[in-house]
Amino acid sequence: MLSIEKLSKVFQGPKEIIRALDGISLSVEVNEFVVIQGPSGSGKTTLLLSAGGLLAPSDGNIIIDNQNPYQMSSDNRARFRASNIGFVFQQFYLVPYLSVLENVLVPSLAISQPNLRERAEKLISHFNLTDRISHVPGELSTGERQRTAMARALLNNPKLLLADEPVGNLDNENADIVLCALKEFADSDGAVLMVTHGDRAEKYAHKTIQLKNGKLL
Ligand code: ADP
Ligand code: MG
Repeated sequence: MLSIEKLSKVFQGPKEIIRALDGISLSVEVNEFVVIQGPSGSGKTTLLLSAGGLLAPSDGNIIIDNQNPYQMSSDNRARFRASNIGFVFQQFYLVPYLSVLENVLVPSLAISQPNLRERAEKLISHFNLTDRISHVPGELSTGERQRTAMARALLNNPKLLLADEPVGNLDNENADIVLCALKEFADSDGAVLMVTHGDRAEKYAHKTIQLKNGKLL
């Protein structure tokens, strides 16, 4: 589903060049939940954004479902992302003035599919948020915010889920709900790549790989 080939990313810092990723190769197959674990600054976010078509590599290729998003026009790439990839981030990125239901429906602005409202309500129920469906993010607990973000990530029926520290801000109970949902998604013909500094995901993942200084160990 996802193939990362000799991916490198360099940033121009104020003085010197920063080599955030250095020749990373990795693949995530259908039905696989892969976790990349590494300390702060090891390149996790850079890897995830590059893998998701959000940050062009300096070198190497990203192939998602046999297509290279960086060879598309930016409009096509945005559409490709919206219909194929779900993103979950540590900071949730919910829209503060929209309700839970409206936040979950945000991806439907990018591509329209039938029965989205019904699907959104099902996902909201799956993540035990039905009682909170009209609340705005400021009225939710941290765990409820991340469960809303999970429902949003799944709305468009993505093939690939990319998660950046999705449980970094959560208590153990909510962390396990989110990790279980990621595993469940992988097990039902999805593919998941998650990056994290913690080790909680290890028992859910099919494969855990260490990242250090932009290199896989
Ligand atoms: P992690 O997510 O593992 O903490 P990041 O991928 O955010 O690591 O960062 C890896 C390295 O790249 C760090 O040294 C960071 O300072 C640097 N970096 C990340 N993004 C940028 C950027 N936009 N410009 C310059 N340096 C960056
Ligand atoms: Mg990071």
